Parts: sequence; C-alpha cells; structure tokens
Amino acid sequence: MRSLIDSHVHMESFKDADSIIEQSKIAGIDAIICVGGTLESSVFTKNLAAKHHNYVYPALGVHPSEVLKEDIDASIKFLRGNLDGCVAVGEIGLDYAYSFAKPKDVRQKMRDIYKRFLGVASEFNLPVSVHSRSAYKDSLDLAVVAGVDGVFHWYDGPVHTLKEILDAGFYISATPSIEYSKGARAVMEETPIERILVETDSPVFLRNLDRKSTPVDVKLVVDALAELKEMEPGEVSSITARNTEKLFRIS
Ligand SMILES: [Zn+2]
Repeated sequence: MRSLIDSHVHMESFKDADSIIEQSKIAGIDAIICVGGTLESSVFTKNLAAKHHNYVYPALGVHPSEVLKEDIDASIKFLRGNLDGCVAVGEIGLDYAYSFAKPKDVRQKMRDIYKRFLGVASEFNLPVSVHSRSAYKDSLDLAVVAGVDGVFHWYDGPVHTLKEILDAGFYISATPSIEYSKGARAVMEETPIERILVETDSPVFLRNLDRKSTPVDVKLVVDALAELKEMEPGEVSSITARNTEKLFRIS
C-alpha cells in the first residue's frame, strides 16, 4: 500500500531527474505521476518511467502554453503509439490567461486541440490531467462531452464551477498554493477529502519559500491540507494516495 504519492510532476525540468527520484524515495514518497508538457518531454517521461518502473508513472500530453508551438499531429501520433503503460493523458487543457490566448480564434484553436487530446484519452480509456486556468467552464464542458474521468490539476477557479466539476465526478488537486493562497484554501474547504489528490507540480517556484520545489515538498502540501481539514497528516497522505491509485488505475 502506497502511503504518499505526488500526483503531478514535470520531471524533465530537473537536470538530474534520477537523483531527485532517489531523494523522493528516501523522503518516503511512494510514487510520482510524471506528466508531459511537450512532445519532447512526453518522450522523456515515457523513458524515465521505463527506467523507474512502478515508481514513476507516466502521463503524455501537450500543455496549453505549448499547443501553438508544437506539431500536434506528431504529438497525437506519439501518444497513440506510446500510451500503453501510461496512466493518463496530460498535461492538457485550456488557459485563457496567457496574453497570446486573448484572440477568439486562438482560443478556438486551443479548444480544438484540447478536444483532440480528450478524444485520444477516451479512445484509450485513460483519465486526463487537466490545466484549466481562466478557462474553467470550457475545460469542464469539453471533458464531460468527451466522457473521460480525471483531475482538475491546480484548480483555482470559482467555487460554483468547482461544484460542477465535483458533481461530474472529477478529482481536484491540492498544491503548494494551499500555503499562500486564500482561494486555494477555499477550494480545498469545499472539496471532500475523497476527491482530493496532492501534488507539487514541481519544479514550480514556491513563492513562500523562495525556491523551486521537488516532489519531496508534497509533504508540505499534505501537512497544510491536514491542518485545514483537521485531520492527521498520515490519514491525509494515505487517503489521497488511495484516490490517486483509483483515478490512475494503479494497483
Ligand atoms: Zn503542471
């Protein structure tokens, strides 16, 4: 039984991924879900998972920040050929907060690409790891139409859309922002522990600690969530690990 899982990491961003994995094991992290953000990082993720079998679980995808730069046909082709042994399609989604995403036609293109990735997830019966910043409702509606399950990673949108996301059966992740964002705490207060995953999104910058994160920092997320939920940290880590195993079908 795994008792602590970091459910969303960008491992290709670390110069020495192998030593980060060693440190994570020593710190008691039992598994890492490693997402792809580009075609290149998806290839890296798949190879890293092969090397660290049963510890690094791969997800393949193209992040909304990259969708206009990437060859989407080539990325979809790579996914189709490599999703065997992967636990999800991700990180995919929409983000209307980028300055390049202001024009309507760009947003439409983002949605079209997101739909293609959702279609692949549905075809392979895999969950999705969704980035939905400033595009919460569209991200949800398209995922529902595609008939996939998944997690709304780092959800920081309004509570009324959160309720719709939970009603549709999706999970939400607790992130390092729980320590410095009132909005993140409000989301966690509204979400039952049975629907929460914990993650670092490392190497995301920890603004409260003035340094980059690693998967070891998932313990800080667990501690903050435990305090908020008035639970024991061990209970929070094991329940969220169960949730992660269930969503990503990890036995
Ligand atoms: Zn991410």
